[in-house]
Amino acid sequence: MTDLTRMTATDLAGLVASGETSAAEVTRAHLDRIAAVDDRVHAFLHVDTEGALAAARAVDERRAAGEQLGPLAGVPVAVKDVLTTKGVPTTVGSKILEGWRPPYDATIVQRLRAAGTVMLGKTNMDEFAMGSSTEYSAYGPTHNPWDTDRIPGGSGGGSAAALAAYEAPLAIGSDTGGSIRQPGAVTGTVGAKPTYGGTSRYGLVAFSSSLDTPGPCARTVLDAALLHQVIGGHDPRDSTSIPQPVPDVVAAAKLGATGDLTGVKLGIVKEFTGEGAEPGVMAAFRESVDTLAKLGAEIVEVSCPHFRYALPAYYLIAPSECSSNLARFDGVRFGLRVGDDGNRSLEEVMSLTREAGFGAEVKRRIMVGTYALSSGYYDAYYGQAQKVRTLITRDFTAAFEQVDALISPTTPFVAFPIGARTADPYQMYLADLFTIPTNLYGGPGISVPCGLSEGLPVGLQVMAPTMADDRMYRVAAALESVVGTFTPPAL
Ligand code: GLN
Repeated sequence: MTDLTRMTATDLAGLVASGETSAAEVTRAHLDRIAAVDDRVHAFLHVDTEGALAAARAVDERRAAGEQLGPLAGVPVAVKDVLTTKGVPTTVGSKILEGWRPPYDATIVQRLRAAGTVMLGKTNMDEFAMGSSTEYSAYGPTHNPWDTDRIPGGSGGGSAAALAAYEAPLAIGSDTGGSIRQPGAVTGTVGAKPTYGGTSRYGLVAFSSSLDTPGPCARTVLDAALLHQVIGGHDPRDSTSIPQPVPDVVAAAKLGATGDLTGVKLGIVKEFTGEGAEPGVMAAFRESVDTLAKLGAEIVEVSCPHFRYALPAYYLIAPSECSSNLARFDGVRFGLRVGDDGNRSLEEVMSLTREAGFGAEVKRRIMVGTYALSSGYYDAYYGQAQKVRTLITRDFTAAFEQVDALISPTTPFVAFPIGARTADPYQMYLADLFTIPTNLYGGPGISVPCGLSEGLPVGLQVMAPTMADDRMYRVAAALESVVGTFTPPAL
């Protein structure tokens, strides 16, 4: 039989449903692959071998009993370590949660289990999802399967690398400023950020609550859509969850795969001039624009004049929210506690714990956020940033009166060498130049592989109006039907 780890989730689910293979066999194949390559990739922080095999056996028993299985039953999935998993370590890539085993599952994890998917383990990430390269993980970097001396993107580099290295056919990420799409782009995989509120944040360790959006990662657009369908939809336990059904993203991906975009109007953002982007990335993007036009899409230029302020606004809003959210890591309630020798005050123990438990980037964000929110500076920084956010939202609204979706490169550059951008935080922040506007607006965005530059993958981003997630899947699947999927040179 062909190597099970090379198959799509769609095909694996079909083989399990028909009885040609078992969920246990599929799971063992992926666990073996992890054992063979993950010392070089380091996509996983924790592999739940026993839990995965037990979940797989349960699916096989249900099938044997004649139960109707869901569309992804028996398919393994890797989960970013930002989501709580009952009894399974959850660190958020931070020392401050080392050893913590949550007493409950995130809603998304519950839905994954109910759908009969098999959780392989937890994937590496930048600490608290702050970063663009997975180099800020307290547990060491993840390596890009295309070139293990390079970064796999971030913050969800572990999930994307697990897909590209064929360690998992599906993965979950979270996107606050680009952390699903950007790793997708630089690993040649697909990453979708759903509409904010379209996927539940219950059990997602909070970074910036008004931006955080969990979502699907896969090697094909259809697989991402199937996963989106399983995890998405209203959750009464998340107050910002949208009480509406997920648009039919699976049907949209299938429609797109026919390669016909007649009647679809796509906008190129005039202000994304390509300044600061690599020529090879822009060349691959332009070629994809031609491809989309050949498939029948009408391409027009639209102006979004406030997008140029998105990065500075984001880097006030996200740290502000993080400074508040991360106050709960105090050495009392979860994980690490330092200096509690019976002689120190509560404040001293908290301070020692936070000093030892948080890395440099997390501390930098907490300090920036605390400053931006302090009385006297609130209006000058946080207040201004919120106004800019409104202006960016208006840019999107106006653009979507003219076009069905916007397209851009996903990232300004291909995967860079490990260590190349850690010295200057601003250089790291630039990685999310094209992805951040969508987060500030709240709409959905997807990255789909669109070509190579110097032998490394380039992603194209499709951005759609809020609750029109189906549109981006259609466009992405149409492009994929021409350019195909991408396989890294053998690991
Ligand atoms: N790179 C951005 C940041 O560091 C986005 C991270 C994310 O989407 N979680 O904040």
